[in-house]
Amino acid sequence: MYGGGFSWFVIVAVFFTLGVAFTLYKYGYKRRLGGAQGKGGARNWPHILANGGLASIAAVWSLADPGFAPAVVFLGAISTSAADTVATELGLLSHSQPKLITDPSKSVPPGTSGGVTRLGFAGSVFASLVIGMMALALGVLSSPYLVLPICVVGGVFGAVFDSFLGATVQRKGYCVVCLKPTEALKHCGERTNPTAGKRFIENNVVNVLSTVAGAAAAYATFLVLYLLF
Ligand SMILES: [Zn+2]
Repeated sequence: MYGGGFSWFVIVAVFFTLGVAFTLYKYGYKRRLGGAQGKGGARNWPHILANGGLASIAAVWSLADPGFAPAVVFLGAISTSAADTVATELGLLSHSQPKLITDPSKSVPPGTSGGVTRLGFAGSVFASLVIGMMALALGVLSSPYLVLPICVVGGVFGAVFDSFLGATVQRKGYCVVCLKPTEALKHCGERTNPTAGKRFIENNVVNVLSTVAGAAAAYATFLVLYLLF
């Protein structure tokens, strides 16, 4: 609110509302499936920093630079976080088995990082559109016709990139206590054993990298459209 003003704060609030709504939607079913967020859907501070860090940097940056760049980065990062969250939560409800993004002939259990569904993809488009329409209504960018494509391309690219990292470099492992497969660093109070992916690239690192990728895609979209029109 200090850096980007009230309109930027409303965009963050819309992302938060989307996240809460889609996390709690059919929460009991997702928990039985084993894919639901723990602790009643509450996220912890590293998760919030990973999803909101780049957007916060853009807000501080906008104090020094009144141009387009900080707003485009902010919108790309927030669209990515919204698209990724809604895609994950909606994808868990898909009737068809998730496919691995790097090899669509392989099916994976719901909740597996790198697993994608059509429903999840539609969710990422929907969430980016909601962020874009709010940004349009609030006048976050002074070129209104650029806002929707920036948010949709940035958000969908960021969410797809998140799945790609999830299928390739994200840490996978198992719990040394209950022996369940898990992507978390800790389970049952103990450090987990890694089995695949890079040891330090856990979910929050993937989220940070995805917001950077989504912001870059948003910025590329902005440049192309700005030069064309
Ligand atoms: Zn465990």
